[in-house]
Amino acid sequence: MRVFNFSAGPAALPVEVLEQARDQLLDFSGTGASIMEHSHRGGTFVEVAERAEKDLRDLLAIPEDYAVLFLQGGATSQFATAAMNLAAGGSADFVVTGSWGKKAIAEAGRIIDARLAAGTTEGPWTDVPARDGWTLNPDARFVHTTHNETIAGVEYYDTPDVGDVPLVSDMSSCILSRPLDVSGFGLIYAGAQKNIGPAGLTIVIIRRDLLDRSPDSLPSMLSYRVQADKGSMFNTPPTFAWYMAGLVFQWLKDRGGLEAMAERNDAKAALLYDFIDASGFYQSPVAPGARSRMNVPFTLADASHDATFLEESAAAGLINLKGHRSVGGMRASIYNAMPTAGVKALVDFMAEFERKHG
Ligand SMILES: *Cc1c(COP(=O)(O)O)cnc(C)c1O
Repeated sequence: MRVFNFSAGPAALPVEVLEQARDQLLDFSGTGASIMEHSHRGGTFVEVAERAEKDLRDLLAIPEDYAVLFLQGGATSQFATAAMNLAAGGSADFVVTGSWGKKAIAEAGRIIDARLAAGTTEGPWTDVPARDGWTLNPDARFVHTTHNETIAGVEYYDTPDVGDVPLVSDMSSCILSRPLDVSGFGLIYAGAQKNIGPAGLTIVIIRRDLLDRSPDSLPSMLSYRVQADKGSMFNTPPTFAWYMAGLVFQWLKDRGGLEAMAERNDAKAALLYDFIDASGFYQSPVAPGARSRMNVPFTLADASHDATFLEESAAAGLINLKGHRSVGGMRASIYNAMPTAGVKALVDFMAEFERKHG
């Protein structure tokens, strides 16, 4: 029995992808072994790996002068790794619009001079600060944003213009949710477990000229330049997660790519936000111009109903709706793999709950 899983991450995967992985689990493509049991340097896996990279490049129209890395360590590792590679001995500017940006500036601050250029490290986070209010430092080696804040539910609707300074963005929870002009960024990174595949894989998309910044003294595993030179195989990469990501990329292409996904995601988000806005019982804390289309936090008029809401929604097959403790209330994560039917089921449940308790 599959439920509608609103988890923020690790999150629901497309059922067709899980079925395909199940069918191939014991015998991948007539090889008599699972893809997990193949050498990462053997032809079978290399073909899977290359196909995945090509499909990701097609989906996001990643320009040739960008390298794509398949790494480990999660987005959290990238907070410091980006600083080590791009700003050794220097400084970088951070725009903080939620808890992940707060972690990013703190981790980078262990390595470099990480400055708060806009936003706040204290919350509550309910909006994206207007670009003309950012205080950028002329000597910053990069500017860092969190394109979608998974906990606060705050998303950039545009790519901020920061001039010639490379824009570095954490896209863990919004990558592949819609088309993106990659050339507006120097570096994009994303943990896989929200919108790509299983935990354990981290995608890095980096403009190749920035690879020259990686200091020779960096440990090889942490060097973007070394990882790019070695095709993300300086050591054993997370092969099964890489394979699963490849299945998700194919699934996205089969469904019309990111334009089609954006249309579906916009419709899903509108369904939920319109319902919340029309209700006197539920509330969205986020400014309408910055509301995440992937993570929708909402509160109930009376928090004493929270426990009942969670119990009854779970019993109705709608799971993992509990909001993050820092925001309270509920959060519905509606990534690519969440079908429109799941959001409709949630809205129906919420309407019925309001009728009973409102
Ligand atoms: C989940 C998440 C992270 C942390 O990812 P890990 O893979 O656990 O390190 C960082 N940033 C954002 C925006 C996230 O959603």
